[in-house]
Amino acid sequence: MKIFFAKNIGFCSGVKRAVAITEGALKKDPQPVRFLGELVHNENVLEHFLKKGVRFGKKLPKVKKGTLIIQAHGRPPLPHLPGITVKDATCPLVKRVQLAARDFHQKKYQVIILGDKKHSEVLGIKGYANKKTLVVKDEKEAARLPFIKKAALVVQTTQNQETFNKTLKILKKKIKELNYANTICPEVSARQKEIKDILEKCDAILVIGSRLSANTRRLAEKTESLGKKLIWINSLKELKSQMPQIKCQKLGVISGTSAPDWEIDKIKKYLKNYAKKNQSN
Ligand code: SF4
Repeated sequence: MKIFFAKNIGFCSGVKRAVAITEGALKKDPQPVRFLGELVHNENVLEHFLKKGVRFGKKLPKVKKGTLIIQAHGRPPLPHLPGITVKDATCPLVKRVQLAARDFHQKKYQVIILGDKKHSEVLGIKGYANKKTLVVKDEKEAARLPFIKKAALVVQTTQNQETFNKTLKILKKKIKELNYANTICPEVSARQKEIKDILEKCDAILVIGSRLSANTRRLAEKTESLGKKLIWINSLKELKSQMPQIKCQKLGVISGTSAPDWEIDKIKKYLKNYAKKNQSN
């Protein structure tokens, strides 16, 4: 079996930053450290920090001490929290979308977000515009919007470029004065581009990442849409149990942006050994 590892694999820069902020808070900020929502969409990362004593909550804590970490996907602006040290792990690329939405809203545009209505990033972006912000998931939903005189489009960072292009085209026809900011994350685009190259040369793809992660799901969907065999795992343990069923000549290995580097390293080592053994047999 030949194995092709993607160049863009493991944590993206935003997730690396969020992990580093949490490690730093555990060392030098007031304890306990709490996450407000999942720091990133990966169970292994959350477990890693829960074991180190980080507490997890979805609502604002009632106590007035400790450190609160805002998730990498961001959230609506927080009220003043006396006694609590707030560490903002919002990825700077997500912050860029939030600020674009706020700016458009202040300039009296009807803000439209291209994204997943229930995703924490989209809920956070809405918090920077207003309650009337519209969310569409694709060009079909955009086509169903009512007539709007003045609107501006921003994009959830993990959306794909093709959907953005199609949505923008529809909105240009429907909206008299349309403004937009293409806020797709370049690191997500790089992975989407790289998977196309890997899919061309492989007959099966190993996708590493959580089922909670939107960008990992997109990699898996892309693999299946081209009729390639998909193996989707989130840990070395899961890979080991599936390895006997993986029958292919060329295996591509890619990951979502929140798949932990420490797990990727173990998986790479295991696969390299596996390929070596299978060559000599
Ligand atoms: S995928 Fe992009 S936007 Fe999201 S956390 Fe990573 S770098 Fe930031």
